[in-house]
Amino acid sequence: MTARILDGKALAERMRGDIAAKIAALPYRPGLAVVIIGHDPASEVYVRNKERAAAAAGFAARTLPLPETTSEAALLGLIAELNADPATDGILVQLPLPAHIRAQRVIEAIDPAKDVDGFHPLNAGHLALGLPAIVPCTPRGVMRLLAEAGAPLAGARAAVLGRSAIVGRPVAALLTAADATVTLLHSRSRDIAAECRRAEIVIAAVGRAEMVRGDWIAEGAVVIDVGINRGADGKLRGDVAFAECAARAGAITKVPGGVGPMTIACLLENTLEAAQRRRGPG
Ligand code: NAP
Repeated sequence: MTARILDGKALAERMRGDIAAKIAALPYRPGLAVVIIGHDPASEVYVRNKERAAAAAGFAARTLPLPETTSEAALLGLIAELNADPATDGILVQLPLPAHIRAQRVIEAIDPAKDVDGFHPLNAGHLALGLPAIVPCTPRGVMRLLAEAGAPLAGARAAVLGRSAIVGRPVAALLTAADATVTLLHSRSRDIAAECRRAEIVIAAVGRAEMVRGDWIAEGAVVIDVGINRGADGKLRGDVAFAECAARAGAITKVPGGVGPMTIACLLENTLEAAQRRRGPG
């Protein structure tokens, strides 16, 4: 079998077009504030891409750059201002933060209604309970790609590799809410290959280049590769050995061009929805 490629770039472009059309019809401009501390090159690229995409879709988007030496108290003060600002619908603090700032403290300071990353414990807790929540952007993108694949989720066996708070755990919660039978795998799991082979859906989010091999994949399975690994040659690789797995899968994403663009599109969706909940549907 040769897998159908799930084109995250094209799907994300369609989503961004839909979001722009919705914003154009609103009587207000939804506001997104992105806070970045210091000069981590990867974070600077991510933040620039988010601001650009948000501005292009019609959001009032602004990046608030703070020096590396910013104190935790000063950052919490800025978050309090943004929480109180009626024009700000979504607040995103780019991670990682410098070591002297407690990231969890900062995440918990964001108004859960403006927490468009979906990292606040109230949103994470609601998601874990199967209640309405702001869903983290990458997991939301993964679910959209699965919908695009047309794979039935109810009753399907799903293997999720990685249990981080930002990807693996929320993906497992979303799949469970969609009635899949989920196996959540991590660095202490035994025989990950066999667990994957039994699965009709495989989500890889471990951060290990090309760890998932072709013979781990059942014929016709849907494979979503969240991993982004930059090799010594500067090339980006996913967590999935693409050619081997595509030879067996029914549908598969690529890196780049799969989950990555979906993450930004879902951030915009989260921000639009947060604005509509606060200010009305328009
Ligand atoms: P993370 O916080 O480092 O978590 C990695 C998870 O993988 C952990 O649960 C870890 O297990 C597990 N793991 C590590 N090595 C393993 C192994 N050999 N076998 C089985 N499990 C193993 O990473 P993350 O933030 O979830 O990100 C995962 C990947 O997705 C990274 O490549 C990241 O760059 C990428 N990512 C992409 C996007 C996007 O927009 N496309 C967004 C976010 C992340 P333990 O819990 O036991 O340590």
